[in-house]
Amino acid sequence: MSNSIQPYAKIREKLVAGQLSVLTLVKSYLDQIHAHNKALNAFLEVYEEEALIRAAQIDEKIKAGSAGRLAGLVVGIKDLLCYEGHHSYAGSKILDSFKSTFSATAVQRLLDEDAIIIGRQNCDEFGMGSTNENSAYGPVLNYANQAHVAGGSSGGSAVAVQAGMCHVSLGTDTGGSIRMPAAFCGVVGLKPTYGLVSRWGLIAYASSFDSIGPITNFVADARLVLDVIKGDDGQDSTLVDPIPAKKSDSKRVAYIKEVVDHPSLQPEIKSAFERKLAELRDLGYVVEGVDFPYIDQLLPTYYVLTTAESSSNLARFDGVKYGHRNQDAGDLMQLYKRTRKEGFGEEVQRRIMLGTFVLSADYYDAYYTKAQKVRRLIQDMTLDILHKFDFIVSPTTSSTAYRIGEKTLDPIQMYLGDLFTVQANVAGIPGLSVPMGVDSSGMPMGFQLMTSPFQEGIMLDLGEKLTKHAE
Ligand code: GLN
Repeated sequence: MSNSIQPYAKIREKLVAGQLSVLTLVKSYLDQIHAHNKALNAFLEVYEEEALIRAAQIDEKIKAGSAGRLAGLVVGIKDLLCYEGHHSYAGSKILDSFKSTFSATAVQRLLDEDAIIIGRQNCDEFGMGSTNENSAYGPVLNYANQAHVAGGSSGGSAVAVQAGMCHVSLGTDTGGSIRMPAAFCGVVGLKPTYGLVSRWGLIAYASSFDSIGPITNFVADARLVLDVIKGDDGQDSTLVDPIPAKKSDSKRVAYIKEVVDHPSLQPEIKSAFERKLAELRDLGYVVEGVDFPYIDQLLPTYYVLTTAESSSNLARFDGVKYGHRNQDAGDLMQLYKRTRKEGFGEEVQRRIMLGTFVLSADYYDAYYTKAQKVRRLIQDMTLDILHKFDFIVSPTTSSTAYRIGEKTLDPIQMYLGDLFTVQANVAGIPGLSVPMGVDSSGMPMGFQLMTSPFQEGIMLDLGEKLTKHAE
């Protein structure tokens, strides 16, 4: 087994025992990047020199016995996260040449524990997309089959882990952007409870949905990264004090009948999912189907509210303060209009217009207020299920990774792919995608677990049990 495809704890043992150096480790990831990144397009920028210098420094720290908890953990970060002195483009032309003046809390906490940031990863523009085809810097290709998409919006982050170009990635998830590409690429993706990880330094898409979390090969590594990045930093007023963890003998599992019977669900995914349910029963879990009559309201609620929030969040990109600026505007209004037309891609423009529409005086109550009310109903009903059960499980996605270009002509088809992942964001609960084997053409499938707010611990325990064979 190569050094890179092992849980960090094992790598650390070797580092501490002097059997492996951080420098060697970093070089092995750089080798993978050199070999595959040109084709896969997962990294937009690689911090090669910096990573090598830092590796040597961390090797010294290990020798001196003063290394942090993540010493030598090689991390890639999604292009939506700020890293001081480095570019963050949000996958968009409008931020072309932008450099962050500070680091996101999650990034800083990794650095403080001696992790190494190896580069900036491709994503859908501002996180808006499900296939990474909405990046201004080109699509990311799936390492399992390059004719297929990586999933999105954290596509570069998932493929980088899948192809061994970094040990873990930090992605973001507003409606599935960590879990969906993780499922499409056969890796692990964790979206934490809303309010557990600070959003400081995350370029906002929809602020009441956005969360930051890890994409990894192993559940244990997702747990480790979460443990380092979580918790208050005084910069994000939506952070809350975590509720104490449940004990780990939580054995009641629900699946939503409307999900399992959904016409969009690929038969092979359905049978793989049913095999997982059988596995859970064999492990002594009580597995029951429950009704969730709001299944058809999930996507409309998500897309009304996230477009509304994004139309407001993206108002700041106007060519005045930073990023792209149109060069031949005659007046200020022209400058705004031309800059935004040139800088934003088609999907981002579509969402800003949709969001502006649902927030407009005449339609505010009919769409925005209504969607807020439905969000509360969905949240209440979800929490009600989680009162009776410890977990809600589902396939992460209804199909395996699409072929490149397959969904780009019809945005509604693209949005439908988010059906199983948006519930966690609408309700603010945590979600985890773990690998569920491959379909007959070799494309990965994902199994999703969701649980009550702040109960990541039991969710990761179960995720670990279900993927034990991988370690
Ligand atoms: N595909 C969803 C969207 O386009 C989710 C994106 C995300 O989680 N950032 O909104």
